[in-house]
Amino acid sequence: MNMKKIPPLTIDHERLLRGIYVSRRDVTPAGDILTTFDIRMTEPNRMEALTPQALHAMEHLAATFLRNHPQWSPRIVYWGPMGCCTGNYLIVQGEVEPDEIVDLIKETMEFVAGFEGDIPGASPRDCGNYSFMDLEAARRAARVYCDEVIEGIGEENLNYPA
Ligand SMILES: [Zn+2]
Repeated sequence: MNMKKIPPLTIDHERLLRGIYVSRRDVTPAGDILTTFDIRMTEPNRMEALTPQALHAMEHLAATFLRNHPQWSPRIVYWGPMGCCTGNYLIVQGEVEPDEIVDLIKETMEFVAGFEGDIPGASPRDCGNYSFMDLEAARRAARVYCDEVIEGIGEENLNYPA
């Protein structure tokens, strides 16, 4: 079977920095536009990736935060980890640009970085692998992303390398 490379596998990962990128836009048969964001937390193959356990804890926290957000919750479709463990995907309803969600991502990561207590949904009833989580690593990664990427974010962190 001759399969096409799909976006975002066509971007140059060797020059990709940490940031907030539009991975793709899709139009549903009903006409809704969906924007998939690449919330890239480590430089591919040049920095240590996150662990699946850290991303899993982050997934529970970020998804819960976003679905409860006073402005954005109705437009949040999905948050989840990338298989390569260098970031997350966020799918939002509408044609949204990265600079429009910088504050939202900052709020989300600050929430993760400062989270204490029981992770929402971390129970055998609510999750398929509930003990497979590393809250400390999720908190550290969110802190680093806020301090090193979101603060002082530039065009090179909002647009894929040409
Ligand atoms: Zn889970």
